[in-house]
Amino acid sequence: MSTALVYHPAFLAHDTGRWHPERAARLDAIERRIRGRPELSEAVEAVDAVPVDPEALVRVHSADLVRLIATVDAAGGGHLDADTVMSAGSLAAARLAAGAGAAAVDRVRAGADGAFCLVRPPGHHAVTGRAMGFCLFNNVAVTAAQLVAGGARVAILDWDAHHGNGTQEIFEASADVLFVSMHEYPQYPGTGSVRELGEGAGTGFTLNFPFPSGTGETPYLKAFDEVVAGVLEQFGPDWILVSAGYDAHRADPLTDLGLTARSFGRLTARTRALAADLCPRRVVLFLEGGYDLAALADSVESTLAEMTGVAAHVDEPAAPGGDDGAVAVVEAVRRLAAEHWDV
Ligand SMILES: [Zn+2]
Repeated sequence: MSTALVYHPAFLAHDTGRWHPERAARLDAIERRIRGRPELSEAVEAVDAVPVDPEALVRVHSADLVRLIATVDAAGGGHLDADTVMSAGSLAAARLAAGAGAAAVDRVRAGADGAFCLVRPPGHHAVTGRAMGFCLFNNVAVTAAQLVAGGARVAILDWDAHHGNGTQEIFEASADVLFVSMHEYPQYPGTGSVRELGEGAGTGFTLNFPFPSGTGETPYLKAFDEVVAGVLEQFGPDWILVSAGYDAHRADPLTDLGLTARSFGRLTARTRALAADLCPRRVVLFLEGGYDLAALADSVESTLAEMTGVAAHVDEPAAPGGDDGAVAVVEAVRRLAAEHWDV
């Protein structure tokens, strides 16, 4: 059983301009790394992304947003906000990125041991009615909503350095989707405080770990072991989806967190260990951010190595300490979560 790697060359045609951090070179760097590690490329099964089912898209996005993006595409491109841009080819890439999760789910149902969707544009900032933060469609949310429509319960873990505001907004009133985000705070887009716990029937089904700048690996693992694992066990997901951003790496130029490539391997290992008990093999990761090309390639390699059981070759010193503020955040989230879960 191999891990599915869902990809499409059309992702490279989403041209954000010469100076934009979310650029095609990101996927090139990852692709080159995988090809350069034969034991890794042999351990994954290449799967083509497919365009998203239009019905699946409007389950999470407004018809107005879908129309707006089609209109900008027809004009050959343009800006959706100050840092969210489309070129010719962006709509096709966005449709494939939003459909990659369905292709991943199909492969896992057919026997694959988890899947990694190597996609762009990223998705987790896109809200119901608006594209933002480099994201056109919310890839992970489209996939989660498709699974929920089929009767599944879905946990979404978001370890991108930025809060997954779009995913949170889309599912904040749902008790079928558990959303957990670990992110730098304050940081773009400004949301994701510990007090944001969901709404109505979804109260308690959103958990946010807003970590201070400089947070290293220890609080992330503590959050996982002391809060996330227990909540997930009680929630009982049929699928675990991950918004796998790599901009929490300490080398990332956009943020100021302190993870290393190995940290992402450890987060992946914990996710897989939980899935082994709760929903074996049903883990699908989606690439979100990560803007230092070498750190991104190292971090994805570390993730895929953990998923496939291949040894990672990434060599780097341990992350620095100084995590007292972040440990207090973990404790605050645990206390708030304890109103809804036995943690
Ligand atoms: Zn990010």
